Amino acid sequence: MLVFSGKCLCGKVTYESHAEPITIFNCHCEDCRRATGSVFGTNLFVPEDKVEILGEVSSYSHFSDSGSTMTKKFCNNCGSLLFGKNSAKINVISIRAGTVDQIELIKPVINLFMDSRVPTTSINKDLKQASRMPS
Ligand SMILES: [Zn+2]
Ligand SMILES: [Zn+2]
Repeated sequence: MLVFSGKCLCGKVTYESHAEPITIFNCHCEDCRRATGSVFGTNLFVPEDKVEILGEVSSYSHFSDSGSTMTKKFCNNCGSLLFGKNSAKINVISIRAGTVDQIELIKPVINLFMDSRVPTTSINKDLKQASRMPS
């Protein structure tokens, strides 16, 4: 059953998730800021085997603070960042919230890496906060 879908800016990469998000985070870490070009990144985490991706993606890998390999996947035509994979998380991928079609589904539960947020970013006080990544 389709739960949500999404696409990149040019539409050459599309996806369908057949599962509800496991969780949704706003991440204010420097990596998310630089990768998205925005002051924070919102990610939906979903079971990898429930997401069907159509179209060509390119990828870029780097190491996180904790030493795991983080792989970013983006459209090789328009450059939109769509997906992320943390090597430490089995069968989980993250989907960048800005690419989701069903925007009413985007309900973050926590703001992470508040230590490195851009000071002018407004924060929803109803959500939980963490200074870095909770273990
Ligand atoms: Zn594209
Ligand atoms: Zn981050």
